[in-house]
Amino acid sequence: MKKKQIAIIGGGPAGLMAAEVLSASGHDVTVYETMPTVARKFLLAGKSGLNITHSEDYARFVTRFGKAGDRLRSALDGFTPAGVRAWAEGLGTETFTGSSGRVFPTVMKASPLLRAWIARLEGQGVEILTRHRWTGFEDGGYAFETPKDHLIIHPDAALLALGGASWPRLGSNAAWMPWLRDRGVAISPFRPANCGFDVDWSEPFRERFAGEPLKSVTATSPAGTFPGEFVISRHGIEGSLVYAHAAALRDELEDGKPASLIIDLAPGRSPERLATDLARQDRKTSLSNRLRKGAGLDGTKIALLRERASETDFKDALSLAGLIKSLPIPLTRPRPITEAISSAGGIEWSALDDGYMLKAVPGLFAAGEMLDWEAPTGGYLLTACLATGKAAAIGLDRWLEGR
Ligand SMILES: Cc1cc2nc3c(=O)[nH]c(=O)nc-3n(C[C@H](O)[C@H](O)[C@H](O)COP(=O)(O)OP(=O)(O)OC[C@H]3O[C@@H](n4cnc5c(N)ncnc54)[C@H](O)[C@@H]3O)c2cc1C
Repeated sequence: MKKKQIAIIGGGPAGLMAAEVLSASGHDVTVYETMPTVARKFLLAGKSGLNITHSEDYARFVTRFGKAGDRLRSALDGFTPAGVRAWAEGLGTETFTGSSGRVFPTVMKASPLLRAWIARLEGQGVEILTRHRWTGFEDGGYAFETPKDHLIIHPDAALLALGGASWPRLGSNAAWMPWLRDRGVAISPFRPANCGFDVDWSEPFRERFAGEPLKSVTATSPAGTFPGEFVISRHGIEGSLVYAHAAALRDELEDGKPASLIIDLAPGRSPERLATDLARQDRKTSLSNRLRKGAGLDGTKIALLRERASETDFKDALSLAGLIKSLPIPLTRPRPITEAISSAGGIEWSALDDGYMLKAVPGLFAAGEMLDWEAPTGGYLLTACLATGKAAAIGLDRWLEGR
């Protein structure tokens, strides 16, 4: 096939992976990125260690993407967690599996991997144009604002990898939604995913405990029961254990139902055993001491219990034990999408063909978080962004070949 001009719009993990695949096929690839540098969210993810994929059994891995799992399956099969590790290692970044099964680069950051990746892309002839903001369709092409001029390009094919709607200050602000809707592309509204929630804390509790972690607890919601930890925030609750339940709790609140995260403050002890241990404590000592000694609770757990329980709950050892095992935290709303780790919603699957081309805009493909799927934290997000970037690039290449 003759070498074709391809525009990749958006220089995050999905766009860069598409650029890698298409330039390796011998095409002339240009990446257009609005920010002064590419992959800012990827670099930010690196600040917390860069959880690049997950080592769990692949049959389990593919169930993490909710309703979109079936549509994502062939992309994931084409770039499995083992494939992600091998790719990172090919760029000089060794990986290791943490105790939770999550996979991280040994250096626990993203910058060496990104540097090597950009060098590979440049070596394959990819041109990266930063400070180029796509502003929509114009004169049958794609328009950009650049520091110098207003540019309109007419590539042979284009691929959008513009990200979702969380952390817009890193570049992905979903400004493209009306431009695609005007062309007849169905898009679900973006919603926060892997987010914290607001809780009506009392003022003294908020002042004293915001920022404090609750470790070694389990939490239950319609999503299931998982162990882990979370943090009390000024607004409510956040952290990995909350994010694991966030989609189910967000959906309940959106349906107008009351939503609570149910916390077990003493996993591993039965309510009966707790009640016996609490009843055995000297009634003359303070309640905090009895909870510390009888139930093994630390200061933050005791404060949370006191925040949520009534005076009568503390009078009877059995009901107190029940509350320690099953303490509801009622949630008022998810935190705004601008603070969420990722977003749900985006281009609907019905708008895409099997090669990730927008049915309404022939020659235009899409990949990454701008598509309608969501997943918990744990490396699933980056894996699916890389996998859809690769799948859309293959779809684009085949489409060009078939023309
Ligand atoms: C704090 C934080 C930590 C995270 N940690 C992890 C983690 O450990 N593991 C994990 O799997 N995932 C993690 N994620 C999620 C992960 O980073 C994202 O899912 C992933 O970066 C999405 O990739 P993408 O390429 O689809 O979009 P993005 O990374 O958002 O890239 C899209 C690019 O398009 C550009 N763009 C947008 N609009 C335009 C325009 N009009 N013109 C030109 N360019 C444009 C943006 O500037 C951006 O560079 C984390 C996210 C956050 C916020």
